[in-house]
Amino acid sequence: MINQTENHFLDISKLLAGETDELVFDLEGLPFPFEENQITVSSLRFSGRVVDLSGFIRLSGTITGLYSAACGRCLAPVTQGFSLELDLPVENEEAESDEDVIIAEGKKIDLASLAQETVFTSLPMRLLCREDCKGLCPKCGKDLNTGDCACDRREIDPRLAGLADFFKD
Ligand SMILES: [Zn+2]
Ligand SMILES: [Zn+2]
Repeated sequence: MINQTENHFLDISKLLAGETDELVFDLEGLPFPFEENQITVSSLRFSGRVVDLSGFIRLSGTITGLYSAACGRCLAPVTQGFSLELDLPVENEEAESDEDVIIAEGKKIDLASLAQETVFTSLPMRLLCREDCKGLCPKCGKDLNTGDCACDRREIDPRLAGLADFFKD
């Protein structure tokens, strides 16, 4: 699922050997190889640290970037910044656990995959240019944010319209 052509691995062997108790990283411009919900992700950055807390290794960090898509109601282009926090234990091998852990295979953490998967699993269903975007007239296609049109849209029960909006989320 992930196009692993980039090399963004963090070597934690010094941490495991006790030579240091903290490793800091900051990766900018990570690729985002996914396509979902017609949202593109750019300026992907992942910064954080891996610390050894008396034998328990944890990774904490922040993933930031930009979502771009057409507004889910009026189709105007929308770009929004996002910020995701991550704080997970790191295991040296595949752990028999249902909990979220980061696997450091060969004493390395694949930071690009970690950032990409985290962003992918939290992608919104759609973007809106603004919360109260009025959308397009279903009859004539006019952008109702720029003013009303002459169409009679009364046959749409506003309660049902609200429901339809709800199901889109
Ligand atoms: Zn809109
Ligand atoms: Zn209209």
